[in-house]
Amino acid sequence: MTLLKLNIIFLFSIFSTFYANMVFAYDIFADSHIHFNWDQVEETSAQDAVNILKQANVGLTIVSSTPTDMALELRQKGGDWIVPFFSPYIHVLGKRDWFRKSEVVKKAEQGLKSGQYFGIGEVHFMDGFHPKTDNTIFLQLLQLAKKYSVPVLIHIDSSNETTFLNLCLKNPDIKMIFAHAGGVLKPAHIGKILSQCENVWIDFAARDPWRYGGISKEDHTLLPEWKKLVLRFPDQFITGTDPVWKVTRGQTWDLPDEGWKKYGQLLDYHWAWMNDLPEDVRRKISWENTKALLKK
Ligand SMILES: [Zn+2]
Repeated sequence: MTLLKLNIIFLFSIFSTFYANMVFAYDIFADSHIHFNWDQVEETSAQDAVNILKQANVGLTIVSSTPTDMALELRQKGGDWIVPFFSPYIHVLGKRDWFRKSEVVKKAEQGLKSGQYFGIGEVHFMDGFHPKTDNTIFLQLLQLAKKYSVPVLIHIDSSNETTFLNLCLKNPDIKMIFAHAGGVLKPAHIGKILSQCENVWIDFAARDPWRYGGISKEDHTLLPEWKKLVLRFPDQFITGTDPVWKVTRGQTWDLPDEGWKKYGQLLDYHWAWMNDLPEDVRRKISWENTKALLKK
């Protein structure tokens, strides 16, 4: 290590007394929830996305794409620290019809068998809309997750924990990631899930103040009840930036998505709350838990 580097570290440690977030800002990070979708390429190419991740010191990332093969493209550009999950959205509008297509199951099996994909998801279920979690295609995907022992990233928008809880109780040998900690769910809901299902990881992606919110104070550190829950189950929380921005601007679905341009802002947010946690817990959430989850 050069003297200059030592000086910089020294300076950072002085600053850290005042700016706790700064000193860890470049720590290695497992970004456990990213997308690289067809409507983002115009703004951000695969190479741009890889560069953004590298600059942010992301050493591991889970990517899910629409259409799904775009995740493979990202890995090809970046390397094996980019971990593609099989998205059932196999074409541009796949989100609308995946749950009626047996082709989805066939492709999933091919991709898992050949070792191209390391998980399944993100799969979305919206309250009051189709499909439901008892959909045949989805159940077949769960069977594949079990067969190939890979995790499934599940997004359920619901006002309580029941749907997800039933799912994790029914499938104790499938690793499940609960995207966005259920979006609007509270620590009490998530506590019920974690105390009954050992096969679940809770993902804080998109719980930033610009999208779902609801987990942090104004200074971006966790609300007391959330912090308590994280400290009670330090091995079960992961997070990611989820750089998709369209959700924040209502009507403009026809424009390209500029989510990757917000990467720094999203990353800073997550480091802000992680840096407020005890060192060992911070390390688990920012890195170790995702590694453990991806282990076969
Ligand atoms: Zn997502």
